[in-house]
Amino acid sequence: MNQRVLSERARRVIPGGVNSGQRNVPGLGDLVIAQASGARFRDRDGREYVDYHAAFGPPLLGHNDPDVSAAVAEAGRTVDLCGVGVTEDEVELAEALTELVPSVEQVLLTSTGSEATFHALRVARAATGRRLVVKFQGCYHGWHDAVSLNVISAPDRVGGKDPISAGILPEVLDATLVLPFNSADAVRQAFAEHGADIAAVIVEPVPHNVGCLLPEQEFLRTLREECTRAGSVLVFDEVITGFRHHLGGWQAISGITPDLTTLGKAIANGYPVGALGGRADLMDLFSSRPGGPAFFAGTYNGHPAVVAAALATLRKLRSEPVHEHVFRLGERIRTGLAEVFSSLGVASLVTGYGSVFVEYFMDGPARTYDDLLRNDASMFIGYRRRLLDHGIFELPLNLKRSHVSYAHTDADVDHLLEAAALAAGAQLAT
Ligand code: PMP
Repeated sequence: MNQRVLSERARRVIPGGVNSGQRNVPGLGDLVIAQASGARFRDRDGREYVDYHAAFGPPLLGHNDPDVSAAVAEAGRTVDLCGVGVTEDEVELAEALTELVPSVEQVLLTSTGSEATFHALRVARAATGRRLVVKFQGCYHGWHDAVSLNVISAPDRVGGKDPISAGILPEVLDATLVLPFNSADAVRQAFAEHGADIAAVIVEPVPHNVGCLLPEQEFLRTLREECTRAGSVLVFDEVITGFRHHLGGWQAISGITPDLTTLGKAIANGYPVGALGGRADLMDLFSSRPGGPAFFAGTYNGHPAVVAAALATLRKLRSEPVHEHVFRLGERIRTGLAEVFSSLGVASLVTGYGSVFVEYFMDGPARTYDDLLRNDASMFIGYRRRLLDHGIFELPLNLKRSHVSYAHTDADVDHLLEAAALAAGAQLAT
């Protein structure tokens, strides 16, 4: 059955035809995924793409990494979910995370990143007895109400409350303050006004949900200082940066240690995982009596197949030059794309970190979300749509980042740079 027919069937029984709002991408047409391995996926009509979208980030090793797949298959033969007690693998993974991630003294597993950030904020409120949460414009922390606002906001919504969904109680939105990323002054001012009421500050240390804004050290240091002074809980949401940029996350790179850390995505290379770790006195609120005082549960938490995937991912990240490879290719891509766009005379800012890259079409640097409003969205999206004609998949949605994996090769990068010149040239000619 071809993809047009399958997509029609999907739309009849699945709202919008896809299982995540972010998979509904205008201009892609019918897309039914049939197979994925290494750096590539193939659709139902047999078209193959070199994949830089990478499912929003998990497959750092590439799709269906053979070692991860073998570990999952082995787990399937050994133990499935029992819903009581703990497995040896869960203990091993928790020990590894506490060794690797500076803030993590104890850790709990969830099935998604959203659950991890949800529980981070809940335990922060439980510990402090306070109401307010601070987040930053451009950061995404999952789909739950407290953080479902001000991610990619239109210019006229920046500075106000910009919920990403209907159905959120106004009093929940009222309890979240939104500040500009990289503004230490805004942080100091918010603490001066509301410090005694702030339970938590949650931040993507590198806001990759709008491509890439690199954090200024002074900003991260100010978060740490103000939270410490006010007795608020600092949460680094390292769902994207964890393992991808460093096994210890951005906190290991920056030397700034939060109170709580959320992880997900790359730590299990594509299997459904999240983790919440941090200071033992905070994490202990989940354990002092069964189910409380902060309640934490989840039927699938620590699923043996997922934990096996995470351990296999970690083994490979430790034993093979994965970071060296993806950082080198990422740098080649960023430098190469900047040259391509400059030789075409188009204003661009090609940025990112390590394995992550993003091509904004704008002048000048980007410090804050406001700067990204200068990006030419139609060029950003049009360029990526034209890359599809060359067998390259970067998600054609404004401000989305791209990822390179251990399975990508130098030949893939050569191909990307050649295709980029053709795609950008054709888009400029329209
Ligand atoms: N935090 C960050 C920084 C994320 O990028 C995401 C997912 N894009 C989440 C949390 C939510 O994770 P999940 O989709 O697994 O619920």
